[in-house]
Amino acid sequence: MARDYYEVLEVGRDASPDDVKKAYRKKALQFHPDRNQGDKEAEEKFKEVSEAYEVLASEEKRKIYDQFGHAGLRGRGYEPNFTDVGDIFSQFSDIFGFGDLFGGMGRRGGGGGRRGGRPGRDLELPLRLEFLEACEGCQKDVQITRADLCAKCNGAGLKEGMTKSTCNTCRGAGQVTQAQGFLRIRTVCPSCGGRGESVPAGAACDGCGGSGRERRTDKLTITVPPGVDTGMQLRLVGKGEVGDPGAPPGNLFVTIEVKPHEVFQREGAHTFCEVRVPYPLMVLGGEVEVATIRGKEMIKVPAGTPSGKVITLAGKGIEKVNGHGQRGDHHVQLVVEVPTKPSSDEDRLLRELAAAQGVKVNEKGGLKGWFDKLTGA
Ligand SMILES: [Zn+2]
Ligand SMILES: [Zn+2]
Repeated sequence: MARDYYEVLEVGRDASPDDVKKAYRKKALQFHPDRNQGDKEAEEKFKEVSEAYEVLASEEKRKIYDQFGHAGLRGRGYEPNFTDVGDIFSQFSDIFGFGDLFGGMGRRGGGGGRRGGRPGRDLELPLRLEFLEACEGCQKDVQITRADLCAKCNGAGLKEGMTKSTCNTCRGAGQVTQAQGFLRIRTVCPSCGGRGESVPAGAACDGCGGSGRERRTDKLTITVPPGVDTGMQLRLVGKGEVGDPGAPPGNLFVTIEVKPHEVFQREGAHTFCEVRVPYPLMVLGGEVEVATIRGKEMIKVPAGTPSGKVITLAGKGIEKVNGHGQRGDHHVQLVVEVPTKPSSDEDRLLRELAAAQGVKVNEKGGLKGWFDKLTGA
């Protein structure tokens, strides 16, 4: 009945995968429906060479065929049977694709007939950081629950030693063609969801019931680069949920939130803080200690510095994200420190100063005397 596949493609039994491709390309061109319009015999030939290629291009199927012949393929549901030329075009779209007609060969998986499938879902994870952690970068251990490959069957969905069979509905193509009036509409196979394969009864993995997937909570260490700020997202490629076979996994998006700091504020890579400076130092000049995100520093205060003056420390801010080590600036606002409980020495000197400036101030103990009268003490 069915002819020998090697004979059909006119290749030796030891033909390399590349030889098989070349032979199929040659034959497919010869019997291509576009070149043989209305020729029934050519169409049958086209189907025959395509079936031969379907088997010999798959390492797994070729092995079975070499050992057990057509019967071996049939027993595993692997024997191709193209009834529609359109199915051939969709299955070998990497060969018959636009702009690539019989040109470069696409990569074909060993499973044969497998569609691209859906990529894994992206996940989002909020991550709250301390202010200085965000400035300097850090490593964070997080727990993440996601669909992953079943640990028991490693995603195969099968008990050990079992194999999947080609989907009966689409015969492995992953797509079915439906006639609607004179239109032919191709849709994803409803039985296998486009995978082209199905799990035979009793062969499903106990761990996942055949889906090859399970929800697992894993620990993940996230490396946060220096300089991140609230609202930024880190993308961890491939750390989302696992996808369909052959499709890429999703990504994990980590959304940063930075907690406020009691001393520092920030705007991008620039930092801000306020420093209280004693009045004489503002008037006469001197040095004052200020905090930066990387420790304390002494800065010079010129004589006659007005309260509210901002001094900029270039490059003492936060490292810019992807800024190759470049840092923002640190802005320090100098504000006159007003003592709430001056010592008696300070009190005396301030009164002398007030007198020298002709400034009228409250009398000593005035407020206290008024308070004592009020409470009757
Ligand atoms: Zn199917
Ligand atoms: Zn499993």
